[in-house]
Amino acid sequence: MGLIRLRPRPAGSRPAPAPEPEPEVLDRAAEPDVVSELAPEPAPIVAPTFGAPIAEPTAAAATSDRVSTRVIALANQKGGVAKTTTTLNLGVAFREMGYRVLIVDLDPQGNLTMSQGLNPDTIERSMFDVLVHKVPISEVIEKREVDLAVASIDLAGAELALSSLIGRERSLEKALAEVRVSYDFVLVDTPPSLGLLTINAFVAATGVIVPVQCEYLSLRGLVQLENTLAMVRENLNPHVAVEGIVPTMFDGRTLHSREAIEILEESFGDLVFRTRIRKTVRYAEAPVKGSSVLKYDPTGAAAEAYRELAREIVAAKEAQDGAQAREHA
Ligand code: ADP
Ligand code: MG
Repeated sequence: MGLIRLRPRPAGSRPAPAPEPEPEVLDRAAEPDVVSELAPEPAPIVAPTFGAPIAEPTAAAATSDRVSTRVIALANQKGGVAKTTTTLNLGVAFREMGYRVLIVDLDPQGNLTMSQGLNPDTIERSMFDVLVHKVPISEVIEKREVDLAVASIDLAGAELALSSLIGRERSLEKALAEVRVSYDFVLVDTPPSLGLLTINAFVAATGVIVPVQCEYLSLRGLVQLENTLAMVRENLNPHVAVEGIVPTMFDGRTLHSREAIEILEESFGDLVFRTRIRKTVRYAEAPVKGSSVLKYDPTGAAAEAYRELAREIVAAKEAQDGAQAREHA
């Protein structure tokens, strides 16, 4: 369908899909009509403008470690698609694999901060101070299951406060320059919008992962996201692109969920990760205990799903690097 101009991934960069379990009994009549939202070709969407690009050397360009640290923005302007859940659990899964991980809460709702047992309402210094007042990010990093740069409610005012600053789109990139050498992965949780906070994440990122809820799939939303990313590529960060789409809240028993996956794969092909994050209440239970699902229920299927996703992300990058090395040989 080619809805989105996405970078091709080298052939074979995805591990073979795990066999799907036998389909369970279908009840088509009882299914809500997901596809009606998906069927029409989305109308062209006018990309938003972010003001004139600011010509200045990037903070990261000065850092030779840029290539080795992967900064991944978890983004989707729709709320409730599992951005925060994926940031935390993927981060903890990478940690289990031995990687050094920082997760960054860039959502004023502070759900990521809460999900590690911290209260965003009582936090004194947060990513707001880092982005707006240039407080070193190391001063707002809490040691939890992984290192966490915290959010507070102040962050709600960050877009406005940033909007008048020079280099407003590069605040996060500059802040990360201090610590990126200390991490293999930096995962940035973003708010449900394509505003300045999410733009900051795109500018700082080496890649973007888009969690998509299998129930209320919005291809139109994904086109908007890619348009914003294209603007960022053109003006601010030529290297950033969607690395992959994670189907979340997948329920193999419903036709609905399976159709959503089919449509995603038709539209985005290899960019859809093979790992499906299934729907289970474990993901909602864990944050109440201030922990990841990997800690809350270490041997459960919910934890295993994020371990599988982490392995898939690492393997895809290794395959890509291998293909590039062969190209240049
Ligand atoms: P977002 O950050 O995109 O708004 P969240 O990660 O906060 O989304 O997830 C929204 C809600 O859905 C939360 O209550 C979370 O616990 C729950 N949730 C996330 N992933 C799943 C899943 N795979 N199955 C069931 N519930 C989930
Ligand atoms: Mg969230």
